[in-house]
Amino acid sequence: MLSTMQDAPLTVTRILHHGMTVHGGSLVTTWTGGGEPQRRTFAEIGARATRLARALRDDLGVTEGSVLGTLMWNNAEHVEAYFAIPSMGAVLHTLNLRLPPEQLCWIVGHAADRVIIVNGSLLPLLVPLLPHLPTVEHVVVSGPGDRGPLVEAAGKAVAVSGAAVRVHEYEELVADRSAASDDGAVGSGSRSGPRPGSVASFDWPELDERAPAAMCYTSGTTGDPKGVVYSHRSVYLHSMQVNMAESMGLTDRDTALVVVPQFHVNAWGLPHATFMTGINMLMPDRFLQAAPLAEMIERERPTFAAAVPTIWQGLLAEVTEHPRDLSSMTRATIGGAACPPALMEAYDKIGVRLCVAWGMTETSPLGTMSNPPAGLSAEEEWPYRVTQGRFSAGVEARLAGPEGDILPWDGESAGELEVRGPWITGSYFGGVDGELIRPADKFSEDGWLRTGDIGVISPDGYLTLTDRAKDVIKSGGEWISSVHLENALMAHPDVAEAAVVAVPDDRWGERPLATVVLKEGATADYAALREFLAGSIAKWQLPERWAVVGAVPKTSVGKFDKKVIRRQYADGELD
Ligand code: ADP
Repeated sequence: MLSTMQDAPLTVTRILHHGMTVHGGSLVTTWTGGGEPQRRTFAEIGARATRLARALRDDLGVTEGSVLGTLMWNNAEHVEAYFAIPSMGAVLHTLNLRLPPEQLCWIVGHAADRVIIVNGSLLPLLVPLLPHLPTVEHVVVSGPGDRGPLVEAAGKAVAVSGAAVRVHEYEELVADRSAASDDGAVGSGSRSGPRPGSVASFDWPELDERAPAAMCYTSGTTGDPKGVVYSHRSVYLHSMQVNMAESMGLTDRDTALVVVPQFHVNAWGLPHATFMTGINMLMPDRFLQAAPLAEMIERERPTFAAAVPTIWQGLLAEVTEHPRDLSSMTRATIGGAACPPALMEAYDKIGVRLCVAWGMTETSPLGTMSNPPAGLSAEEEWPYRVTQGRFSAGVEARLAGPEGDILPWDGESAGELEVRGPWITGSYFGGVDGELIRPADKFSEDGWLRTGDIGVISPDGYLTLTDRAKDVIKSGGEWISSVHLENALMAHPDVAEAAVVAVPDDRWGERPLATVVLKEGATADYAALREFLAGSIAKWQLPERWAVVGAVPKTSVGKFDKKVIRRQYADGELD
């Protein structure tokens, strides 16, 4: 028997078209640092994305398969690029603006970015790199910032293709050059309304849903960055998952404060997901410090936000010191690193319910979310809320033991988490002319992604991670979870942040070193901290080595950078 269903490819073009028409009145609000924020409707974003696509094709010669980098903050223009580039068949490559310069150059070259769209405020970062970016033929600048040094550097540069590097103004590319506005073209021209293949007045190609739409490199916490290429299909399916009630479950009545950068795994899928359901977006642009975040929450009243734990820690400290009205924001997603339960409790007290999400660049990223099952009291919900969460329907999971044996979901057997599914990568990008790469430490023989995360799964599908394989402390043949120690330490009233790493030990192989950031006015009393830990941690796991630090070093996406802490210890800086 054959299915009778139509076969419509699942493409970003379809998401764009849906958002700009059905949810044309929803808003992307970009913070401008004071004064009135910039507000743009989904219909306007769609029309500008349409004109951007046309200019990229006609003026810059972008074709299907071209890779375009974005070096941008979270803002409306970045959302336009998110839709214009994949919908025209090119590949959106979001660049992590916090990476060291040499890594950025390597990534741009590896992906062979032909165009870079950059925020003017980031030109001081890009200009010195330009001579080292031979694949780049065009730089498109958006927003305020001195263009002089860029024009000068571009004048001296010639791309490997032989073309001179050209500089363009973003606003000129998206300017309405026709008498008949494209905005008006939305929904016109066809009896049955606009079709996804002909949104506004650009002749969008009908794309294969398996074609590449976007790419992102891992932030390199545990090694060299690795490229992951998302397909239209994977973006589409992942966006639907983000929108499910069991995941973030937002609607057009919500406004999402998107703190997680658009270069950090596509802002966890939010820009695409919002165009499916009309969720308004509040974009912080470059104003990511706790004080402006608190101000924008008070003034713009988002109902939801998404960010990594360090942002939540910082915001909490800020509003404790300088109280703000956060009452609009009743729930939020916290992910990218372990969420200390004490942080969740503190937010509960101010009326913000944090929900944990686990994911990776390789998983698009949504893998789990910690919504508890129905029908439980607040007390009964707690043990579920502090897990990494339940697997999404599209994510199959298993735990592999040390010999590769598959372990039961009994909430006790700990092993490496392996996942597979339609938005999980099956390999890494090997360069434009290279083959896809499938390192054995990253993929099982039968094709599952090896996450490098160690944990247990309960019979009802809740994942609890104990550590990253690379961070777990192997002491005398037993494992100590650095995350357990950190969570326990961060529950102490004097501790602002704590990171625990393994350091070499003659007798035990490895032992934990606890680095702590104290709250203002607190003094270090290691004996008292040890005593405090002894309330919840086995005695043999308690750290003997301690260091008070001014700040825990962070990676480019705001996670604890344990590589740096280990190096500092080895260099004698933490004695
Ligand atoms: P990188 O590996 O370079 O840090 P990713 O952002 O892809 O870049 O990081 C994915 C990793 O982050 C996961 O493998 C896991 O170790 C960690 N992680 C993500 N979410 C959580 C979470 N909710 N709890 C604990 N760890 C998490």
